[in-house]
Amino acid sequence: MKFITLFGPPGGGKGTTAKMLAQKLAYVHLSTGDVFRERAKISDPLGLQIKGLIDDGRYVPDDITVRVVEEFVTESRSHYEGIIFDGFPRTLEQVRPFERLQHQGDTNVIILLHVEEKALISRLLKRAGEDQRTDDSSLETIQKRIETFKTLTLPVIEHYADRYLLSTIVGTGKTPEQVSDETYTLISAMM
Ligand code: ADP
Repeated sequence: MKFITLFGPPGGGKGTTAKMLAQKLAYVHLSTGDVFRERAKISDPLGLQIKGLIDDGRYVPDDITVRVVEEFVTESRSHYEGIIFDGFPRTLEQVRPFERLQHQGDTNVIILLHVEEKALISRLLKRAGEDQRTDDSSLETIQKRIETFKTLTLPVIEHYADRYLLSTIVGTGKTPEQVSDETYTLISAMM
């Protein structure tokens, strides 16, 4: 199975690129953020916990996240040639469980969508009106998410960069189509 992992800061275009790639490649798209936003609509203790964390710009606990991804990968294996991971792994603690999910013969292409911080904030504020995402609606939450990304996810990106496993696509100043075309070309060259 092919694993395509997209990294990028909040507002960096991971979700949009992942959707476009999944369509082009006929792979399945896993956005852990979408899964958690759906789960947060149920007002039981877990739903309320997840909603609280998202609205506060913090991550969902690793054990909950890993369980979601494990189930998704197990179910998708027999139905799809590949999975586009949009938002996982996001902490160093998620890396080992992620690697354990890969069988012999599976390939993993790891891509960072790099976007300048200034561009992120204006993109996110714009999205708040369009997508009704509560975590985009205040500058404070956006800044907190960027901080969470730097503290918890940059070390994961460095982990892969140190092993020469990371490719970078620059997203600043490009349209979603340009970014997705470049990413597609890169993936095709690597598989
Ligand atoms: P963004 O691009 O702003 O990071 P996402 O839709 O990818 O948005 O994620 C939204 C929220 O979902 C995150 O802020 C976090 O609370 C939660 N989340 C998503 N993926 C993970 C993950 N792998 N580990 C922990 N929390 C996650």
